Amino acid sequence: MNPLAPTLDPDAARCILWDAIVVGAGCAGALAAQQLAKRGRSVLLVDKAAFPRWKVCGCCINARAQGALRLAGLGALLSAHEAVPLDTLRVAARGRTAALPLPGYSALSREVLDAAIVNAAVQAGAHFLPHAQASLAEVVDEHRIVLLRCAGEEFRVTARLVLAADGLGGRLLRGTDPFDSPSTGDSRIGAGAMAESVPDAYAPGTIYMACGTGGYVGLTRVEDGRLDIAAAFDTAFVKDSGSLARAAERVLLDAGFPPLPSIEDLPWRGTPALTRTASQRYAHRALVLGDAAGYVEPFTGEGMAWALTSALAVAPLADQAIGRFDASTGQAWEQLYRRTVTSRQFICRAMAAALRRPALVQGLVALVSFAPGLAAPAIRHVNQLPAPPQGVQP
Ligand SMILES: Cc1cc2nc3c(=O)[nH]c(=O)nc-3n(C[C@H](O)[C@H](O)[C@H](O)COP(=O)(O)OP(=O)(O)OC[C@H]3O[C@@H](n4cnc5c(N)ncnc54)[C@H](O)[C@@H]3O)c2cc1C
Repeated sequence: MNPLAPTLDPDAARCILWDAIVVGAGCAGALAAQQLAKRGRSVLLVDKAAFPRWKVCGCCINARAQGALRLAGLGALLSAHEAVPLDTLRVAARGRTAALPLPGYSALSREVLDAAIVNAAVQAGAHFLPHAQASLAEVVDEHRIVLLRCAGEEFRVTARLVLAADGLGGRLLRGTDPFDSPSTGDSRIGAGAMAESVPDAYAPGTIYMACGTGGYVGLTRVEDGRLDIAAAFDTAFVKDSGSLARAAERVLLDAGFPPLPSIEDLPWRGTPALTRTASQRYAHRALVLGDAAGYVEPFTGEGMAWALTSALAVAPLADQAIGRFDASTGQAWEQLYRRTVTSRQFICRAMAAALRRPALVQGLVALVSFAPGLAAPAIRHVNQLPAPPQGVQP
């Protein structure tokens, strides 16, 4: 894939009073930028990374996430990029395997998905500035100052509103009293890699999920045939294993899945603690969305649906907040966020708790291997289509 070029340089960016600066061009930030640009707002979308960029993720896009893309007018995006339709979840624990039907999932690498949503934002009129590390500064005359560090130089850019979509490790609002985003004490960490050489046993169209004592590993073929590997591990298990690769190898073998060739040579990357709760999702003239607003372990593969639906939900409120941001704006976002995202996370929280009990996982796998229909209500819940946000026609 060709690199995404900036649509303006930082010197030009600081001469404009932006309606909104969106920090983070993952699926939450890029979609929020597209939505605000479609409403005629001037939007600067920045990311510290060069795009396209890889990130730790299972790359499985559920029906709810696809519904959010459709509501944003991007219903053709997945097929245009040859996303792989997924129809089966094969889950294994201690040598027992169950195959569950998956309605309407697709797999697309995050390099391709996120770059495609950024392109859609640019087509809608947003400007994109990669390689720009943002930090939040003061409010002056009801305008938020954002400091952008680009190629060793610092630029002050100004906006009426900042959307913080800076992901799981997001620090943008850290320090803006009373915002804080602590991880829960026993949280697992994420890990991932992409494998080019893939055993035939890992067929396209299936999510392979290996569950073990120290964590779980998900494997999925993406559009170009590579195998995406995404995992959640206890930190003590990684220490004991010696590396992320060895931890993944142990979980795969323990579950009874085939080993991956040269697993130690893959470019493994870890993430911060996976389960985080933001105590407040706003500061004056700034709203937080996506993983930066709170996250739960990824077993049910819903993170992108939460990120995309939070981007759709924030847009009408952000559109108003660009004009007037008062004490009620932050509260309104908290309520909306809880309604659209937090209220849907209970299954994921329950799964995260259950996954700490290997005997229970083994029992559940045995149960659903005989009666796959027992998992249907949970799968249906996870895939429920999002309601159109205010002002969006389905
Ligand atoms: C192991 C694992 C497996 C997962 N599997 C799935 C799955 O199969 N399906 C699913 O739906 N979800 C899955 N998820 C969750 C999903 O990856 C996230 O929920 C989703 O990426 C959140 O999107 P986001 O836009 O909020 O954050 P991100 O996609 O993380 O984007 C944040 C962006 O902000 C940028 N950024 C950060 N700080 C700054 C800064 N200061 N200045 C400028 N830019 C900055 C980063 O470079 C990044 O590009 C998984 C997560 C993990 C860890």
